[in-house]
Amino acid sequence: MDASLLARLTDTYRDLHAHPELSGQEVRTAALAATWLRENGFDVTEGVGGTGVLGLLRRGEGPAVLLRADMDALPVAEETGLAWASEVAGVMHACGHDVHVTCLLGAASELAADPAWSGTLVLLLQPAEETVSGARAMVADDLAGRVPRPDVVLGQHVAPLPAGMLGLRAGAAFAASDSLRVTLWGRGGHGSRPETTVDPVVMAAATVLRLQGIVAREVAGTQTAVVTVGAVHAGSAPNIIPDHAELLVNVRTYDEAVRERVLGAVSRIVHAEAAASGAPREPEVDPTESAPAVVNDAAATERVRSALAGVVGAGRVVEPGPVTGSEDVGVLAQALGAPLVFWLLGGADPAAFAGASTPEELVRVVGTLPSNHSPHFAPVPDPTLSVGVAALVAGARAWLSA
Ligand code: ZN
Ligand code: ZN
Repeated sequence: MDASLLARLTDTYRDLHAHPELSGQEVRTAALAATWLRENGFDVTEGVGGTGVLGLLRRGEGPAVLLRADMDALPVAEETGLAWASEVAGVMHACGHDVHVTCLLGAASELAADPAWSGTLVLLLQPAEETVSGARAMVADDLAGRVPRPDVVLGQHVAPLPAGMLGLRAGAAFAASDSLRVTLWGRGGHGSRPETTVDPVVMAAATVLRLQGIVAREVAGTQTAVVTVGAVHAGSAPNIIPDHAELLVNVRTYDEAVRERVLGAVSRIVHAEAAASGAPREPEVDPTESAPAVVNDAAATERVRSALAGVVGAGRVVEPGPVTGSEDVGVLAQALGAPLVFWLLGGADPAAFAGASTPEELVRVVGTLPSNHSPHFAPVPDPTLSVGVAALVAGARAWLSA
C-alpha cells in the first residue's frame, strides 16, 4: 500500500478509536465514512437503517461484491493507556469495529484507484452490531432495493490472533445467539408466611438449575450449544416474598435443528417449573435478541482462501475453529440471497507469540491476551490495518472481473 494512504488510515484509525459511539449513535463515524467514500467517487447513501451508509461504485458489466464493516463501540471504560485511547467516558471501541471501518475505507481507496476491474462494488457500513439490531434495521430500510444483488458478501472481524495472520473457516464459523427474557409469576406475601404465597425465588432457582441439564442431556455429544442465565432479578427485602422473578437467558448454537431443540427445551422447562410451583399465571418467554449463525459458503470460502493466501501466505491463513461469539452479518447475506464469507483478522502484537510455532501453542497464547470486549483490548495498528485492507481488496478482486 501507498505510504501516504497508510499514514492517513492510521490517523483515521486513531481518530475513530478516540471517538467511539454506542450502537445506533454512530453519527460522527458514519459522516466520516460517507465523506471518504464520496472523495473516492462512490455514490453514497446515508441514514440507511439509522446511521448506516452505502457506497456504490459501478464500472459496467460484471459481478457485484459487497464489503461490510460495523461501526459501533461498547459501554466499556477503556484501560489500555494508549495515546489514542477513548476520549468518551465509559465508551470504548473494545470490539475493534474501528479497525473494520478503517480497513473498509482503505479498501475503498485501493479499489477506486485500481482501473483493472469491472462490475459493481458495494460498501456497507452497518450500525448497531453489538445490539444485534443494525443489520436487520438496514434490511428493513429497503437494503435489497438500494443495492444490486451481490455475488458475494465479504467481511472480517479483528481478533487476538497474531497480526499478519488470518482465520478462515468454511461452514459454521460464528454461533447463532438468542437472548430471552423469562418472567416467572408467583404470589407475593410476608416472608414469615410462605404457605400463603407462591415463591418466585424458589421457582427461579429451580428453573436455573434445570436449564443446565439441556446441553448435558438433550444435545448430542457430536453437537454443541451453550445455555447461560446471565441475570436473575427478584425481590427487594429479606422478609418479603415477591410476586415475580425475571431471568435473562442466552443460547448459542451452530446448527438450526439444535437451536430449535434448545429453545424449545428452555420454554418447556420454564413452563413446567412454573406448573410444578403452582404458579397462578403462565410464565412469559420473550425473545429480545437473535442473530443467526455465521455460515461461510463452502465454494466462496475456498475462493477467498486462495485470495487471502496471496496476501499473507498460505501458512498464515489458519483454521480458527468455530467461534462461540456471534455476529449479525449473516442477516445481510441472507436478506440479499448472497453467499457469505467472513474471516478473522489477526490484531495482536506478534511479539506476544514469540516461540509459539504449533497451533496448540498459538491457541495457548491467544488465551492469555485481552479478548474482544475487554477494557484492555488493543489491536496493533501495524500491520493489522494494512493486512485488513489487503485482505478485503484481494477478496473483492477474486470476484470483480479483470
Ligand atoms: Zn463485539
Ligand atoms: Zn464485534
